[in-house]
Amino acid sequence: MRDYRELGSLLRRLNGKGYGAYRELEGAWRFPEFILFVDHVQGDPFATPSRLRVRVPMEVAGIPRDFYRNKPRKTALEDLLLREIARWVPKVTKGGRGSGHSGRFAVVDFGQCILHRTAVWVTEGYVEAILSVGLPAAGRRILGHEAAEMLLSELPALVRRALYFQNLDKVAVREHMACSEDAETLREQLAERRLVAFVAEGAILPRESGVSDRPLREGAVPFVPPPSLSVTLERPNRGPIRGMGIPEGVTLIVGGGYHGKSTLLSALAQGVYNHIPGDGREYVVTRREAVVIRAEDGRFVCGVDISAFISNLPDGTDTVNFSTQNASGSTSQAANIMEVLEAGAKVLLMDEDTSATNFMIRDARMQELVAKEKEPITPFLDKVRPLYRDHGVSSILVMGGSGDYFEVADCVIMMDAYRPVDVTGKAKEIVRRYPLKRRPEGGERFGRIPRRVPDLFSIRARSPKGKLKVRASKMALQLGNSVIDLSRVHQIAEVPQTRAIGYILAYLAENGRRFSGRPLREILEAVEREIDEEGLWPFLPARYGDLAAPRRFEVAAALNRLRTLRLRY
Ligand code: ADP
Ligand code: MG
Repeated sequence: MRDYRELGSLLRRLNGKGYGAYRELEGAWRFPEFILFVDHVQGDPFATPSRLRVRVPMEVAGIPRDFYRNKPRKTALEDLLLREIARWVPKVTKGGRGSGHSGRFAVVDFGQCILHRTAVWVTEGYVEAILSVGLPAAGRRILGHEAAEMLLSELPALVRRALYFQNLDKVAVREHMACSEDAETLREQLAERRLVAFVAEGAILPRESGVSDRPLREGAVPFVPPPSLSVTLERPNRGPIRGMGIPEGVTLIVGGGYHGKSTLLSALAQGVYNHIPGDGREYVVTRREAVVIRAEDGRFVCGVDISAFISNLPDGTDTVNFSTQNASGSTSQAANIMEVLEAGAKVLLMDEDTSATNFMIRDARMQELVAKEKEPITPFLDKVRPLYRDHGVSSILVMGGSGDYFEVADCVIMMDAYRPVDVTGKAKEIVRRYPLKRRPEGGERFGRIPRRVPDLFSIRARSPKGKLKVRASKMALQLGNSVIDLSRVHQIAEVPQTRAIGYILAYLAENGRRFSGRPLREILEAVEREIDEEGLWPFLPARYGDLAAPRRFEVAAALNRLRTLRLRY
């Protein structure tokens, strides 16, 4: 391993040379207090910045084991250290100093969630962090002295500030860790209490704006649980906490327009992840297998059995093995449900705002006018109970527009000026007073859950030239030459998750033989287990620091929307 003083003289020597000479930096460098790995050097100042990795021995970083002794704590600590690096970059580095990305230190972007990430990881032996660094140049000539300042003075300062325990705000570290561990424990209590979600008293659910995930600062009404749905759960760090428990079964969220129904549902959707202190939803938790369902017209569908909901299409299309390049509102919603059930969903979250009306309801008058034989769709209304009874899958529905659902609901929550009121009794009373004239159309049973075997060789992650191509954005994932539309997949928390999904799919494509012939469900379980045990590394071609772990449902969502996907059976 070369010594950092040698790095100084090398950089001085490279000064003024062509950019490509930076390649000589690749490899490991011993600094007095850490090791620097130059994993990848960018081709020119405008290319994706270089990838550097620092490894600080734990004797130096000095983080007590208590802070990473279990998984939620370790994940929270790593997440916090990443945020610390991001916070210190503008304070201890000079930034732009030359052409392109010259001079810039950066870490991956992150949001309100505490996620398992690849940017920072902590072991008993050391703390390691991946930085992206624009090696400086004027035009294409190496600025060696600037580079020396960046790597020999700014970098050590950054490491010292952000990764040494003695320099961290201990209160903030504890808070971050406690928040994550407590949320995790709350979520674990849901199943044994037969709840699907929990919303703590005092939680702030509304967001700053439609494009920001930060809490609404002004005029936010804190959450008040209705007494009849109040439960108290335990937290290991901050003691018991009271909140609204949503029971398993069928739950409706009703109420007037603009009263906070969709806001509650969105908070529940995000409750599958842990949130940072101050988010407002720290103690809003939902079962990990809760998935948002919506209509998604225009999407691709590959051989999904949607016959539970749709049969006898006018053109004779097979709905047991339903494929289309251009689904309608209702067929897309049916496919979305069947796919997430296949992937193992236990809770469905649906909002009338984003549902196909004819998929949700079909009232008595319509039944009178359009006979069952002429209507391919069995509305969700007729399937929501069999779904729970046969498969144990609960539903939470925002339904301000149809009282027909009172009949099938176990629990009805009314949002009244952002305050939830338990109106289950009232709704049941109305059901008794105004009996339903419509005929149930769903039959006795829900129907079978699909068990497809994907042809993993139909995933093409490489460009025609053979280059692995994974590009993630807020709306889409590009894999090879295919673009997967993810704009209507709501539970992707951050772009780094999308990127990880891309590499996971690429891995499945390249290791098709390992999973060949196995049902999608098993493949997803294997991927999830691997992430749980080994993290994301096994799926990556190199040490990338810009990924965050996705859930299996979002991996499945991307695969299901990949237009080249084919099935084995
Ligand atoms: P609905 O789905 O019932 O029509 P939304 O959930 O879309 O209503 O909420 C309507 C508006 O009220 C949104 O701008 C939302 O941010 C805001 N809002 C929601 N909950 C709260 C709250 N607890 N405090 C303050 N504003 C809220
Ligand atoms: Mg709404």
